[in-house]
Amino acid sequence: MVETLSIAVIGAPGVGKTSIIRQFIYNDFSEVYTPTRSRYVYRPSVILNGNMYELKVLDVPPISSFPSSSSQEWLDLRCRGVRNANAYILVYDICCVESFEYVKMIRQQIVEHRYSSSSEVPILVVGNKRDLQRQRFMPRRAVSVLVKKTWKCGYVECSAKFNWHVVLLFKELLGIAVARGTRHNHTSIRLQGALQRNRCTIM
Ligand code: GDP
Repeated sequence: MVETLSIAVIGAPGVGKTSIIRQFIYNDFSEVYTPTRSRYVYRPSVILNGNMYELKVLDVPPISSFPSSSSQEWLDLRCRGVRNANAYILVYDICCVESFEYVKMIRQQIVEHRYSSSSEVPILVVGNKRDLQRQRFMPRRAVSVLVKKTWKCGYVECSAKFNWHVVLLFKELLGIAVARGTRHNHTSIRLQGALQRNRCTIM
């Protein structure tokens, strides 16, 4: 049976959520900013350690808060599927402190609303636009220590523009999600290229 893993990608407007997803799936990047107004679901398949997974990647438009109840999730179409995602990618722009504050708030709300399972829900914080790192608001090491040690989340920096570390961030997250789901700690995930539409790629 093919397991489905849903991944919600959340972040402030313009941080590069859509760019990261599209670079991962289509090897595609656009300089033109088209704000994400409604939720979009991408469904690539991957093979990880010989097992096939169907991914449901939710490109979540800006939400003011993590949905606190099932009814809120159903009433607000943008939030559908967010509460029960198997994993979260929280994206911020390394040059924009407000976008980091947003990630901080959403991460806190995920922990609060998913109570007992919070420690089991993988959260990966992603600092995007690494190519603009001269304008970053905080040294990488300081953010990394805060996110990993205090928040207990994974941390990766990437550049969707240059497809730098984009595959790596999905690899990191899937590795954690699969390991937690199956209780096996796979450390040797091998990646053989980014995913293509309607294609299944061996990771
Ligand atoms: P979203 O609103 O979070 O989905 O953001 P988008 O993916 O639509 O990207 C917003 C803008 O940032 C677009 O103009 C992208 O071209 C740009 N952008 C996205 N990723 C990067 C990156 O890694 N580096 C740079 N320099 N620009 C990026």
